[in-house]
Amino acid sequence: MADRGFDLEDRLETLEENDLKRSLSPVDRVAERGYFAEPSGGDLPVLDSAEALVFASNNYLGLTDDQRVQDSARQAAATVGTGAGASRLVTGDTMVHQDLERLLAETKGTERALAFSSGYAANVGTITALEPDVVFSDELNHASIIDGCRLSGAETVVYDHCDAASLRSALAEHAEQARRDGRAPADESWLIVTDSVFSMDGTVAPLTAICDAAEEYGAWVMVDEAHATGLYANGGGVVQAEGLEDRVQIQMGTLSKALASQGGYVAGSAELIECLINDARSFVFSTGLAPPAAAAASEALHIARHSDVRERLWENVAHLRDGLETMGFEVLGTSQILPVLVGDRQDALALADGIRERDVVAPAIRPPTVPEGTSRIRVVPMATHDQDDVITCLEAFRAAGEEVGLL
Ligand code: PMP
Repeated sequence: MADRGFDLEDRLETLEENDLKRSLSPVDRVAERGYFAEPSGGDLPVLDSAEALVFASNNYLGLTDDQRVQDSARQAAATVGTGAGASRLVTGDTMVHQDLERLLAETKGTERALAFSSGYAANVGTITALEPDVVFSDELNHASIIDGCRLSGAETVVYDHCDAASLRSALAEHAEQARRDGRAPADESWLIVTDSVFSMDGTVAPLTAICDAAEEYGAWVMVDEAHATGLYANGGGVVQAEGLEDRVQIQMGTLSKALASQGGYVAGSAELIECLINDARSFVFSTGLAPPAAAAASEALHIARHSDVRERLWENVAHLRDGLETMGFEVLGTSQILPVLVGDRQDALALADGIRERDVVAPAIRPPTVPEGTSRIRVVPMATHDQDDVITCLEAFRAAGEEVGLL
């Protein structure tokens, strides 16, 4: 009989041979201050010699462990249920969802917001629902943006990372081509899409310059604030920090990082949200966000806005960046994500192993995730790390850096 199946064994072997095979590794976790202990057989975490300090989590504000956030999730589970039970358009809509969306819209300075079951679903659902003719996309945008562009069938033009001049010349070229083809601006829809904070480089998109270019060519701007929501300005992200609420048509983000939960959102005009409720397939045909996740995110956003937790994160960021640079490491970017540039992939692995031996966890990021010769350690402090934790991290980097010959 002919075999029309899939040779999965071969696929896995190829990954293995190319050193690209990844697997899941369970850890018993203690969220507070980013500790984890090695697996201990399913019991509650035991903080013993295997305890390590995590400087690699996107739980930037440390709120997954916050009593108030946990109580909100618990209360929603007890009163509304553990799951939404259906699409929001059927019977899955609850006050918990609506409260979260009101709070997100208020925080982001938009008319409305809409919660999705993940940030991935929000990006894919939004870009496909808009049906753009052309998307201009930063070369380092997140995979969910890339997948949204592909699925939408739009012509996708990739511009240089965080380079408004490169974007502008791509826009100009396309405008000229449209003119030659006799297409009027009103005949087509253009979307510029960018992350605000880039997770592997720690860079921040030049949003004001991007909005200037967009307005010149009549394009819309969509900003993915996954790594900025809850952290920048009053929690609203880089769009808010730069006062661009009225110039960015689509603000999107995740509930799974600083907001300590799970899910995604889009914030924008009432019209945009109405369209997404009708046309975003990842919203329409997917079960509503779990109520405990929505409630936890609301509480986390409230705390992010109304406490000193953001300041504590930024103090740790400044202390850590300063310490690493003073030692002689090159730290990329300008955000809360501190990529320590190593270069060679084996050196990066050795440095990551060296700090791990000193009970600090931060992973080596290697090709193909980043370009050859730019392997790095992605260091991310949390608001709940204290001064001693930051010093432990710095000492681990100094000792391991000397051992590997990088300092
Ligand atoms: N956008 C960016 C920039 C991200 O980093 C992520 C998560 N890694 C997502 C979107 C997807 O969000 P989620 O994890 O909620 O699916």
